[in-house]
Amino acid sequence: MARDITLRLYNTLTRTKEVFQPLDPANVRMYVCGPTVYDRAHIGNARPAIVFDVLFRLLRLVYGEAAVTYVRNITDVDDKINARAAERGISIRELTETTLADYCEDVAGLQCLPPTHQPRATEHIDDMKAMIEGLVEAGHAYVAEGHVLFNVPSLADYGGLSGRPMKEMIAGARVEVAPYKKDPADFVLWKPSSEGEPGWPSPCGIEGMGRPGWHIECSAMADRFLWEALEDRLSEAAREHPHQFDIHGGGIDLVFPHHENEVAQSRACFHSDRMASVWMHNGFLQVEGEKMSKSLGNFITIRDLLSTDAFGGRTWPGEVLRLAMLGTDYRQPIDWTVRALEEAEANLLRWKRRIGDDVSEGTPDAQVVAALADDLNTPKAIARLHEIAKSIGDDSRRDRDAARTLSASLLLLGFDLGFAAAAQEAPPVPEAEIAEMIEARAAARGARDFAEADRIRDSLAERGILLKDGKDPETGQPKTTWEVAR
Ligand SMILES: [Zn+2]
Repeated sequence: MARDITLRLYNTLTRTKEVFQPLDPANVRMYVCGPTVYDRAHIGNARPAIVFDVLFRLLRLVYGEAAVTYVRNITDVDDKINARAAERGISIRELTETTLADYCEDVAGLQCLPPTHQPRATEHIDDMKAMIEGLVEAGHAYVAEGHVLFNVPSLADYGGLSGRPMKEMIAGARVEVAPYKKDPADFVLWKPSSEGEPGWPSPCGIEGMGRPGWHIECSAMADRFLWEALEDRLSEAAREHPHQFDIHGGGIDLVFPHHENEVAQSRACFHSDRMASVWMHNGFLQVEGEKMSKSLGNFITIRDLLSTDAFGGRTWPGEVLRLAMLGTDYRQPIDWTVRALEEAEANLLRWKRRIGDDVSEGTPDAQVVAALADDLNTPKAIARLHEIAKSIGDDSRRDRDAARTLSASLLLLGFDLGFAAAAQEAPPVPEAEIAEMIEARAAARGARDFAEADRIRDSLAERGILLKDGKDPETGQPKTTWEVAR
């Protein structure tokens, strides 16, 4: 634990970087919106998983592992899920189970720690119904044609998070116009389910089955795990802010309407002035300079990168994806490129060579920690890693303490360099393949096709194998040997 570290975080709510002061330092509480499990997570979804994993690790360093509760939900009831299951001719349960299992595998592949809790919306329907009934009783929601709607004008200061005037928000968002709404900005807390759609007995005396809206899921699950479950353990000071927790995170695209509506529901239901003290949002992601979309054909899933050749013609280790992601400040837009992945891989391999066997879980470098404590400045932390790596020096005068510091600092960022260790044990290209290519190159030279011979040599060099032309000492005949590039 290192409570003397001052953490500063940019708060979307106040639009300033603030000193982070948890309501109870012995119970630091963070909620991050998780995936809707209808399809494989794309590389844009990997960004919040990695960014908030770094924050989770930093909070654990500052406040102690047992003091941090991190909740990331799973949205397993949603109309996109219903549509996809019907399209694929499988049950909703089968779709959500397999997609969830894939998601957990993918984020583990990116070296993200599992959150403290990963609640599924369908396991907390009663919590949502209780909140919905509370909102109706308090006059912030109403029943109309089998729906329950949140009445936006009932909360005078609605819009505080996104900070945009109401008219603009309605114009900018896909606000569903429905005849039963009292106000166009009102949003769904509960809606009726027809035959074949997932449904639960409805709240507020509504007959028949229904299902929750998306926003209420997060309000209910955040309160269940960050207030209800911890209330007895919280300090007296923290209990003076009932139902409030420290950090709420997610992608920038969630600020409006999702997070704005979460705030409205939670504040109105619990009569509080805040839902979370700090709201953090990661920037969006584009691919090779273009918006990622299925129609542009540049839509990449985490799984595509980890285990297919869909991006850059090869698979990529999770740690490489992670470093490439952290190379850009989390609030800035990120451009996802093959070049950035290649650079990240080269850096990780170089660092591993410098660390050698001096692997340590000990003390991370103070400047790396300071960079992270300054609103997760990962580019600055990475620049410092390069400095430490340089300072290790060469074999003749090797600074083993610096090597251990580099190792511990990388571990704080979530890198154990397992892939790099494995890569350095085995040549980057299988030996049989190298032998085949040397033979093909000799044949090309024999046929005076020097362009082809050079191409073969260069393609091996690109993959980390250097060819050396010499003579066989016994026969005196030309002989090509190889070595791994360092
Ligand atoms: Zn959410």
